[in-house]
Amino acid sequence: MARVIITGVSKTFNGSTALHPLDLAVEDGSFCCMLGSSGSGKSTLLRIIAGLSEPDTGTVRIGDRDVTGLPPERRRIGFVFQDYALFPHLSVGSNVTFGLRARHVSKREAVVKAERMLELVGLTGYAHRTPKQLSGGQQQRVALARALVTEPDVLLLDEPLSALDRKIRGEMQRELKRIHRETGLTTIMVTHDQEEAMNLGDRVLMLSNGAVQQFDEPERLYHAPANEFVAGFLGAVPLGHGVVGTGARGRFVEIAGNRFALGDSRLPDGTEADAVVMAERVTLTAATARARDEAEHEGVVVSLDFFGPFARAEARVGDVSVPAMMLSQHATALEGGARVWIRIATGGIHAFADGATR
Ligand code: ADP
Ligand code: MG
Repeated sequence: MARVIITGVSKTFNGSTALHPLDLAVEDGSFCCMLGSSGSGKSTLLRIIAGLSEPDTGTVRIGDRDVTGLPPERRRIGFVFQDYALFPHLSVGSNVTFGLRARHVSKREAVVKAERMLELVGLTGYAHRTPKQLSGGQQQRVALARALVTEPDVLLLDEPLSALDRKIRGEMQRELKRIHRETGLTTIMVTHDQEEAMNLGDRVLMLSNGAVQQFDEPERLYHAPANEFVAGFLGAVPLGHGVVGTGARGRFVEIAGNRFALGDSRLPDGTEADAVVMAERVTLTAATARARDEAEHEGVVVSLDFFGPFARAEARVGDVSVPAMMLSQHATALEGGARVWIRIATGGIHAFADGATR
């Protein structure tokens, strides 16, 4: 087990920048998720840590060793790819022992270790099958066992669950959590799925265009996004451009004449800012139900969409469009054209000047 320290690592391919110089420290025994859309540089960074790709600049340290320049097999890492990459003609057991046999571990010892790893990933008794006889989720468990059997210092996973269907993915997320808990291995996993990153990561590294946008605990990422990009990636919706101010009830951002309460913004009064809102923190109630609370806005429902358990409404407050996400059972009283009171929970709106400072 070991921490991973990356210093000044950068990478270009044919003159185009895949990674701007970046620093990163992944603590010993932690689970780090690298999150970003396709092409943001996640795999490039993971492959540089693994030694599958050389950085143009910078160093990679694993534990107390500088591994920059070392080939993958000398870095004491385990690597799992999205497409499992098992040997189709070898049995499950031989797939798992392959790396050990290459290291001249005796056959008997290799078999014992493989059995133990197959047990860890929930595949006791599968050693004699071939990969073809396994489901996608089971094949990825074999790939995990193969990565773990050499007792690496660090486990690296590149979109390991992306090829699996939704239900199996949830099951495998729980498995990865359990295995991480049981082994205590420093783990770095690439994913483009924000829910997966939030669920699995002790910390999430948010990448965009080869640059770190934020490296934080999932709760911090959600409640205190560093910039408009992070907020948007995690689902916040643009509310509009306005000016930050302070009123009798605290900070607000005024957009097209409407004042929306701001949480803990550090932007000084008078700052022009783009505001975003988290639709799941907006509550709509039919305007006839009771008197309007002074903290609420008055609006009109302009659209309503059902997604089974959830519904999403769009309400207009003057010229500003406010989205609201709710359980479908709370949408039954709403319809297009309905007058509503709109409540936005504290912290449900973030304001960013120049796309960044909160
Ligand atoms: P991600 O894993 O986040 O989808 P990658 O790290 O694979 O992104 O890619 C980052 C950028 O680097 C992309 O623009 C991609 O096209 C480019 N890239 C990655 N690997 C290579 C390569 N071997 N040759 C040329 N360009 C590459
Ligand atoms: Mg990738």
